[in-house]
Amino acid sequence: MDFNTLYMNELNLKDKVAVITGGAGIICSTLARSLAAHGVKTVILDVNKDAATEVAKQIENEFNTPSIGVSASVLDKVSLEAAKKIIHEKFGPIDILVNGAGGNSPAATTKVEKMEGTEDENLEETFFGLQIEGFDKVFDLNFKGTLIPTMVFATDLVKKKSGVIINISSMNSYRPLTKIAAYSAAKAAVNNFTQWLAVHFSKTGVRVNAIAPGFLLTNQNRFLLIDDKTGDLTPRGKKIINGTPMERYCVPEELTGTLIYLVSDLSKFVTGVVIPVDGGFSAYSGV
Ligand code: NAD
Repeated sequence: MDFNTLYMNELNLKDKVAVITGGAGIICSTLARSLAAHGVKTVILDVNKDAATEVAKQIENEFNTPSIGVSASVLDKVSLEAAKKIIHEKFGPIDILVNGAGGNSPAATTKVEKMEGTEDENLEETFFGLQIEGFDKVFDLNFKGTLIPTMVFATDLVKKKSGVIINISSMNSYRPLTKIAAYSAAKAAVNNFTQWLAVHFSKTGVRVNAIAPGFLLTNQNRFLLIDDKTGDLTPRGKKIINGTPMERYCVPEELTGTLIYLVSDLSKFVTGVVIPVDGGFSAYSGV
């Protein structure tokens, strides 16, 4: 068998249509660019309309591949249905859904990593000070923000009897990180849902997988990892480097090889997996 030709054919993504939620963000705009580089028509779906339009414009200029910015919230089914209508008019039914919108918030973050258990401990700084509204917001954005767009867009894939869904998970999904209980729980739920839906769709021709990135410096985690006065890494930021055997942060481009593998026929018998791209973080016990 000529493996070179085989792989070239199976990488053929030209003219497929991909919706990337959170597509104006740091990670997902790069994922979108990598798809466009393979000839995929990209839909940059984001709650930030101006940023989505700008990313789409840059993609068209850079790759000469059609791209549109569409404004919708992954938590609002009505806005997603409206986006789907626009997408159908411009590009027709979609082939690839990347569920990338997500993030954390200070409102769902405890001040301290561990309770001391002392009499005079300030409970507001611990688990007991977490705001339910903040918890709901982060949990919903990351979990329901994956579930709802999948409900809206996966009908295209099921009707075509082919297509791929990629969820963006996190290191928190395997073992929770301190302070961020809502984000950790939501990403664990994303992994579980990835497996559940992969089985549910297994006879439809639609595959469902996830990528669990290691640590990148982006807008949603900067408040935890960089001291805004000095610009240096916080103690938590340094701990991440110490916990990453490759001893550095990931850059978004390093996620794109796994994305292309998962959206192409190179992985046509792969469904229900969550692939860590993490410089060894999830393999390392710290000792
Ligand atoms: P980012 O803040 O740069 O991008 C997130 C994007 O999502 C933004 O453009 C934002 O406008 C958009 N968004 C927010 N709420 C939305 C909503 N309701 N509807 C539609 N769009 C919405 O963040 P990022 O770091 O690039 O994160 C992208 C994904 O990667 C997230 O799911 C995040 O949890 C995950 N992730 C990030 C890291 C990291 O270290 N940064 C690590 C692992 C996983």
